[in-house]
Amino acid sequence: MALIEIQELSKEFVRGSEIIRALDHVSLTIAAGELLSIVGPSGSGKSTLLYVLGLIDTPSSGHYRLNNQEVAGIDDQKRAQLRNQELGFVFQSFHLLARATALRNVSMPLTYATISGSPIPAKEMAKRAREALITVGLADRLDHLPNQLSGGQRQRVAIARALVNRPKIIFADEPTGNLDSRSGGEIMSLFEQLNQAGVTIIIVTHDPAIAQRTSRQISLRDGKIEKDSNAIK
Ligand code: ADP
Ligand code: MG
Repeated sequence: MALIEIQELSKEFVRGSEIIRALDHVSLTIAAGELLSIVGPSGSGKSTLLYVLGLIDTPSSGHYRLNNQEVAGIDDQKRAQLRNQELGFVFQSFHLLARATALRNVSMPLTYATISGSPIPAKEMAKRAREALITVGLADRLDHLPNQLSGGQRQRVAIARALVNRPKIIFADEPTGNLDSRSGGEIMSLFEQLNQAGVTIIIVTHDPAIAQRTSRQISLRDGKIEKDSNAIK
């Protein structure tokens, strides 16, 4: 069943008198459980597509059904709520709080979450953050600050933070872009492991070695899908 379904989706940016069509009538279906990459030259619309799919940004026109719910036109509050409950994000530059320990960075998203309408108790937050850090292999780094960790370990903390709300989908924008190839390969192995456990994973990447490890590659060019290998028919 389709987890993500977009139809004729476009995104335009206005810069002065210029209109940039970052996404140009894109249609696409993604099933639950896929591990897929979005590739293409710089400026082809990869990040824009990821942000629209991840409910960080809104399309200018077209349809987007997430989990069978039309989300293209929903208000900011509902969009933020869906994003926090169902989706996780990983970025190239990690986006960690420099003065916070790994445990604190990972528990941060839980500050906004609730259990049956009430805030999550601090002890429960720490427990869930610890579990997420164990999942990414950092059980022995809970109290380290980001600058006491390697690049690969920082990205693991960011992945644990993305996991802590138990999202259905993880969106990653060039997650290995700041890592050497060995650490990048290890991050990719972690994504594979999470995918095996049932999380749908969508990765924007420049790196053919990363794209080749996904079961489906979507190539963008000038805001259009140029090629979609192994698309589910
Ligand atoms: P990619 O991630 O493939 O490098 P992007 O999705 O970031 O590409 O950008 C696609 C196009 O949209 C580019 O021409 C870029 O300059 C433009 N663009 C992206 N974000 C904005 C923005 N916030 N304002 C104006 N133009 C933007
Ligand atoms: Mg980009």
